[in-house]
Amino acid sequence: AKDALRVLVTGAAGQIGYALVPMIARGAMLGPDQPVILHMLDIPPAAESLNGVKMELVDAAFPLLKGVLATTDAVEACTGVNVAVMVGGFPRKEGMERKDVMSKNVSIYKAQASALEKHAAANCKVLVVANPANTNALILKEFAPSIPEKNITCLTRLDHNRALGQISERLNVHVGSVKNVVIWGNHSSTQYPDVNHATVVTQGGEKSVRELVANDQWLNGEFITTVQQRGAAIIKARKLSSALSAASSACDHIRDWVLGTPKDTWVSMGVYSDGSYGVPPGLIYSFPVTCEKGEWSIVQGLKIDEFSRAKLDATANELVEEKTLAYSCLS
Ligand code: NDP
Repeated sequence: AKDALRVLVTGAAGQIGYALVPMIARGAMLGPDQPVILHMLDIPPAAESLNGVKMELVDAAFPLLKGVLATTDAVEACTGVNVAVMVGGFPRKEGMERKDVMSKNVSIYKAQASALEKHAAANCKVLVVANPANTNALILKEFAPSIPEKNITCLTRLDHNRALGQISERLNVHVGSVKNVVIWGNHSSTQYPDVNHATVVTQGGEKSVRELVANDQWLNGEFITTVQQRGAAIIKARKLSSALSAASSACDHIRDWVLGTPKDTWVSMGVYSDGSYGVPPGLIYSFPVTCEKGEWSIVQGLKIDEFSRAKLDATANELVEEKTLAYSCLS
């Protein structure tokens, strides 16, 4: 049998955490034959609730779950972890300025970067979910210089899956037959969901989504805004933000990263920019990637038309601004 892998979930007593930990314990993140030990971290006001989550994990008697740690101590939580899913963050409350939220999160991610750098297992893979996800990941990277930059990513898979879902609904085909959409840029409303390379797999081969939909006005307008604003639509309907879909996509992100993407298929991940597609280096930016043997690589050579170019640049500009704001919170 395989040795258990240790998975850290921060903010584990929160909504996404509550949906995520049972998925991990059932093998949705690391595979159905991979035992796991969960390390759950939250802040002291959430300690009692976190302990309740631990009780439920015990009660669920998951065959793959070999241990559960519930703690408010970041060092204990980070020790020996192979995968770190960073869900904990300071939420934007009514009346708060962007800068105030940024400043809170910068200090959280700076502290957690040091704990991970000193105590995580070598080659620990990090996924940042908490918003502003790209910039939190960048701060984590800056303050954990010994963790390879390739190991620090942020979540845009939910946006990717939402784009697949919208195409599937529109064409009335199963979501599993739609592939190769791209989410470019920031996990915010400036993200660009791009269908120019997306296809639907049919019995007769692959067909272009743009040709099948045959409505550029919808694809360049309502489709994009629906994906960008899906989070807000869910808050309106549920009176709570998306949690199960966020948790599920976090599992997809790590699973594909660790176990590899399917043949001829890419996914979207927020990764450290190397300048591909004219995106400024030094940002955590969402790109199309394929994964093999635990490493992602950016898909190269996709044609970027004028419409897309403007959108890739706009979301990059927002990330440059966020980076500047984050650095101003450090000084
Ligand atoms: P959620 O579990 O709903 O969300 C957690 C984080 O994920 C938020 O930053 C949220 O951003 C972000 N997020 C990213 N993508 C999505 C998405 N698609 N849908 C919803 N959220 C998304 O928040 P809770 O408040 O329920 O839980 C947060 C936990 O973090 C709590 O248990 C709290 O105690 C803990 N916490 C930890 C801190 C620390 O580590 N120092 C500080 C503060 C809280 P957004 O806010 O934009 O929705």
